[in-house]
Amino acid sequence: MTTLYALGSGSRGNCFAVSCHGATLLIDAGFSAKEIQRRAAVAGLMLDEVVGIALTHEHGDHACGAARLARLLDVPVLTAPGTWERLCAAMEGAEHRSLGFATPAVAGPFRVRACRTSHDAAEPLALVVEAPDGASIGVAYDLGRPTAAVRYLLRGLTAVVLEANHDDVMLRTSGYPPSVQQRIAGAGGHLSNRAAAELLAEIHHDGLGVVVLAHLSQRCNGAGEARATVEPVLRRAGFRGALHVALQDAPLSPMPVFAPERAQMALDF
Ligand SMILES: [Zn+2]
Ligand SMILES: [Zn+2]
Repeated sequence: MTTLYALGSGSRGNCFAVSCHGATLLIDAGFSAKEIQRRAAVAGLMLDEVVGIALTHEHGDHACGAARLARLLDVPVLTAPGTWERLCAAMEGAEHRSLGFATPAVAGPFRVRACRTSHDAAEPLALVVEAPDGASIGVAYDLGRPTAAVRYLLRGLTAVVLEANHDDVMLRTSGYPPSVQQRIAGAGGHLSNRAAAELLAEIHHDGLGVVVLAHLSQRCNGAGEARATVEPVLRRAGFRGALHVALQDAPLSPMPVFAPERAQMALDF
């Protein structure tokens, strides 16, 4: 069985992990290596099973612990060439495995597919991790807008981690100057709760068992607001799985992700 870990998510750090058959792939390392080790211990995640670190982009809240962790664990870093270029000075000694739309990457038993996202970074990616038992987990955040490429990548998955950054009303009343509000809501910024709900309704299918809302703004969102906007839309689309909201300051409990046949069985019984 595949297990998804949300060690933390938000503008002060993002780190997720997928484990299957005794191997683990980290997705982003946006806390210090020490903090990731601490959070992994809290969540019961064995870091000595890590076979690679996949990075969506170079911003500190996604990559600040990656160099040290890659060296400590002696594992490759899977990311886009443009992201690697920005990080490689700090990555001395680590192995780069190139990842992009036309170039899936492999680490241990995991295969990672990707596509470009609309975000103000060198070569930002949304990712899909394919586990050896058939489960597939998408991770898409720091999305200015859900492009056709992202919507296509996220189809047919068993689990999705998706940005629900801000509540539209809370953003408008946040006290941020209009220029900052426009940047957050703009094409290089972040996905709102409403946009996340619409995207999830669009990609929903019977095999989708786990949805994790992620990268919530501290100032312009809350777990209750994100859930209240997304859940009714997702349930109306037919979603019968588990909806979680990732937290900035603490890991969630490990989330089982069933492969397609198992997901169907779980629904049937
Ligand atoms: Zn970013
Ligand atoms: Zn970010």
